Amino acid sequence: MLKLHNVCKSYEGKSQVTALAGIDLAIGVGEMVAIMGPSGSGKSTLLNLMGGLDIPTSGEVLVSGKDLARSNEKERSLYRRSQISYIFQAYHLMPTLKVNQNVALPLHLAGVSSGEISRQVARVLQEVGLVARANHLPDELSGGERQRVAIARALVTGAPLLLADEPTGNLDSARGEEILNLLRSIHRERGTTIVMVTHDHHAASACDRLIKLRDGRVEGDSALGGKQ
Ligand code: ADP
Ligand code: ADP
Repeated sequence: MLKLHNVCKSYEGKSQVTALAGIDLAIGVGEMVAIMGPSGSGKSTLLNLMGGLDIPTSGEVLVSGKDLARSNEKERSLYRRSQISYIFQAYHLMPTLKVNQNVALPLHLAGVSSGEISRQVARVLQEVGLVARANHLPDELSGGERQRVAIARALVTGAPLLLADEPTGNLDSARGEEILNLLRSIHRERGTTIVMVTHDHHAASACDRLIKLRDGRVEGDSALGGKQ
């Protein structure tokens, strides 16, 4: 699904920073992968490149054979919209929109008809167990519920690749566990490929594979059990 060949990324500034220093990785369809590493090791940069949000300084980022590094902004925008969904530590919900409106947003932006939007939103709220919260505002929800709204919003487009940046970072362990179980069930039921940046060993142990970064390089890449 995703291949990186000798990917380097430097940021220009007062002094140049090398965030990624030659990454080679292949992530297959349907994998659930954790990325761990100390702060500054390049995790966010890597996620941004996988998401087509940024391009490498050198190297290739191949998605189904097409190189994002050599795609223009328009092509990458299309890739982001059609192939990728994101969840974040801080949920990033629209505070003035109700749960169902937040979840509907990506479909509105994609010009989907309102009948189809209602159907898809109802289905995905069911999937994350939030039917009873459909008409609430984000402020009225717990952290775990907010993250489930964010997951519903990510799922509603049916994108094959879900990128998650510290999805359990703001949650206590019980709430974190619920989110991990939900992600695993999405992975299992839908076959969604999931790439998750995390500091949490427990979250990583819910994945099938652990990639460790250090100083912009892959320090370790190993198969995990993938807790069922
Ligand atoms: P992590 O997510 O593992 O903390 P990052 O990918 O955020 O690592 O950062 C890797 C390195 O690149 C760090 O040294 C960071 O300071 C630097 N960096 C990240 N983003 C930028 C940016 N936009 N401009 C300049 N330096 C950056
Ligand atoms: P579009 O091209 O459809 O306008 P955007 O680039 O605006 O899509 O992405 C939608 C949202 O997802 C934005 O809020 C953006 O910040 C976020 N996003 C996109 N790519 C990434 C990524 N790799 N990591 C984290 N957030 C991302």
